[in-house]
Amino acid sequence: MAGSPRLLFTMLSLPLLWSDAISWTSDHLVLPALTWLHLGEKAGDPREIAAALLIAALQLLIIAGIFRPLESLLPAERWQDRRLTTVDRHYTLLMLLGLFPLFSFLVLMPFAHLLGGGPATAEPSGLKHWFPWFADHPIAMFLVYYMVYDCFYYWMHRAQHAIPWWWALHSMHHSQRQMSCWSNDRGSYLDGMLQSVLLATVGLALGVEPSEFALLGLLSELVQNFSHANVRLRLGRVGWVGERLLVGPRFHRLHHMLRDPERPTLHNCNFGQVLSVWDRLFGTALYGAPLRPTGVSDPVVDADNERGLVAMQWHTLKRFWGAFRRPAGWRLGDVSFGPGYAPIHDDEATAAPAARNESPVG
Ligand SMILES: [Zn+2]
Ligand SMILES: [Zn+2]
Repeated sequence: MAGSPRLLFTMLSLPLLWSDAISWTSDHLVLPALTWLHLGEKAGDPREIAAALLIAALQLLIIAGIFRPLESLLPAERWQDRRLTTVDRHYTLLMLLGLFPLFSFLVLMPFAHLLGGGPATAEPSGLKHWFPWFADHPIAMFLVYYMVYDCFYYWMHRAQHAIPWWWALHSMHHSQRQMSCWSNDRGSYLDGMLQSVLLATVGLALGVEPSEFALLGLLSELVQNFSHANVRLRLGRVGWVGERLLVGPRFHRLHHMLRDPERPTLHNCNFGQVLSVWDRLFGTALYGAPLRPTGVSDPVVDADNERGLVAMQWHTLKRFWGAFRRPAGWRLGDVSFGPGYAPIHDDEATAAPAARNESPVG
């Protein structure tokens, strides 16, 4: 208990430290770089660029410095080599060092300004507007916002599995047979854009500042990087409480399990992003089941494992188009992909196996 005031002090001074770090990076790195590139004002607020850079650097440091060594110390699965994890590492580096900052400034920021949010507004919006009490209680506001954001993510993730054209995109994230601390950023860029716009809309509707949005993103990303890590952690009671509140490596590994032919619906579990409470509330939580290998049983999707980053994106887009343009791509349910990437629903596949031999359409 004696440590509490100090802990509280540290927590309260964190935003100040963060703000100082942003100022330093902005003055010493971003501004000189912008001047050197003759970009000046056109590139946007140098403090926002500095924040994005710092977040990326912090995230890489934590993944490479903590999560990756843990995979060697306490692996959940033992692998002969880590060949398949290489492409996921490339995904993470590309996301953190290139695509995320680019996407934030080219799409999310203009989108935020378009909807009236963004750093320029002084008027309280969203939650602060409807409940002025929140304006004076930023931590409570942040927690409420986080719950809404995470609950929205849970339902979006269920849609990614239930709507065949969305599964065509999301299945690329699931095709990895060696799931590791790098796997979180393995995903279709079309899917990423769709998700970002939906999540940003929720954030803007609630009136979250873009700077808070970035910090929120970092916290979520770190929990997700860790929940993909190939680690087996035994935390005893802490682990028990932790697993029932937060998504951990074991919980998310079960979400990535290869379909069990004996229990073909078991893999439809553990959709939570950061909080596992939504799975418990909506009846999709699976605890204590023995771990199974990760990956997908559909050979058309599993072929991703033999592809590089660019080919994977391209084939995922073809898969998406094959589902999107057909009525079957809109009917909810588990599917595999047939010729021409036509989605074949599980019930049809068992009722009429001949359907798999139809000639490619289009
Ligand atoms: Zn999923
Ligand atoms: Zn995942």
